[in-house]
Amino acid sequence: MIPLSLAEVASAVDGRLAAADPDARVTGPVEFDSRKVAAGALFVAFAGERVDGHDYAAAAVAAGAVAVLGTREVPGVPMVLVDDALDAMGRLARAVVDRLPELTVIGLTGSSGKTSTKDLIAQLTVRLGPTVAPPGSFNNELGHPYTALQATPETRFLVLEKGARGIGHVRYLCEVVPPRISVVLNVGVAHLGEFGSVENIALAKGELVESLPADGLAVLNADDPLVDAMAARTAARVVRYGEAAHADVRAVDVTLDDRGRPSYTLVTPEGSAPVRLGLTGRHQVSNSLAAAAVARELGMAPAEVATALGELGLVSTRRMDVFERPDGVTVIDDSYNANPASMAVALRALAGMGRGGRTFAVLGYMAELGEYEREGHREVGRLAAELGVDRLLVVGEPAAPIHEGATAVSDWGGESVLLTDQAAAVEVLRSELRQGDVVLVKGSRYRTWEVADALRADAA
Ligand code: ATP
Ligand code: MG
Repeated sequence: MIPLSLAEVASAVDGRLAAADPDARVTGPVEFDSRKVAAGALFVAFAGERVDGHDYAAAAVAAGAVAVLGTREVPGVPMVLVDDALDAMGRLARAVVDRLPELTVIGLTGSSGKTSTKDLIAQLTVRLGPTVAPPGSFNNELGHPYTALQATPETRFLVLEKGARGIGHVRYLCEVVPPRISVVLNVGVAHLGEFGSVENIALAKGELVESLPADGLAVLNADDPLVDAMAARTAARVVRYGEAAHADVRAVDVTLDDRGRPSYTLVTPEGSAPVRLGLTGRHQVSNSLAAAAVARELGMAPAEVATALGELGLVSTRRMDVFERPDGVTVIDDSYNANPASMAVALRALAGMGRGGRTFAVLGYMAELGEYEREGHREVGRLAAELGVDRLLVVGEPAAPIHEGATAVSDWGGESVLLTDQAAAVEVLRSELRQGDVVLVKGSRYRTWEVADALRADAA
């Protein structure tokens, strides 16, 4: 945050002051959880269905808040009154970033890999200057301004993930915090239910590059035709990354080690350098290239980028989070989320990791697939079988088509079972796992992670 007087806050959010001193200064943070309020804070009161933030207004002021941004007056509390607190928070974020000319905003969107890639980019930019990036996703109309409001005059880079929940959503997020560098990772069938078609998803994600200024940069995945084509929708310069021959920032000679960690040669117009990632899964080639393209734009040389990529670690948990247990069982906790594309990359990583032991996939339901739901699940099951996964544990009735898809593959040597819940899966794993086995745990939320947690706890 940058210090702003309440008069400046009111003007930024188109609000009106009540019982407040216009010259009092907000120095940050901006919080909507009264327990996080500190001296100098602005407390945002959201009137939710279950909890009304206005009930905590007085407590927030007692804890040091300079004022409360809300939609109705609270007696004795200095207020900035607005019609819509969420919209006001967005406007305030915009006012703050507009006052930070040294700040480079990097925005990214895609169906899969936003958080993973956001974390990679932030780990590179922090080498160049103070960086603000949210923990986890924080990619909606709340998390987005909340994160942006943490920028200070010292901040040089703000890295934000932009989730597209519908047409116009990314455009709105770009109005709140306009990026100078926009990265589009991929267009898949995540949230197909809401969008109706893959073309609509591409339309929504492309808003990220449409909103770029002419001196901005669009970083596009050359390996995804729907993303590649977004070059036509931007006034900004375009840099492409990928394995495709026409990419500007390329990976060639990709190999994976027996732990599923990729190595490749990074090829750029400025030169080449060998990269050895410590991250698991072939999809990290693509994510790391996106990060490399951003770092290149910010002036890092190929060798420097390559070295930095090799040192990147996992920041947000449950995304291809690999741990080895003392009993020789390897667990890939990818339970944060799932859609058919991310299931595919995770299954491929698993299939590449059977080191003499067997491969187990514990797969749960994928939400938000709409009409494609049944086929999407069947396809995942089919792929698991085709990749030769030894043991498939499908968790929960809604995920049953995964089981059907797998068992329909006639020449599969493995075995699939449909289990009622996570506990049943844990029970099977406890009786079957032995040294050398590798287990992938993945689903779209729905508590699939309980299986990973149980496997972790067993090792402790
Ligand atoms: P959300 O929309 O839920 O915020 P996200 O786009 O931020 O998701 P991540 O959390 O980074 O995605 O990754 C979720 C999962 O997607 C990972 O655990 C991994 O299985 C898979 N994944 C990551 N990168 C890619 C990629 N480039 N292509 C396909 N799948 C990917
Ligand atoms: Mg995310």
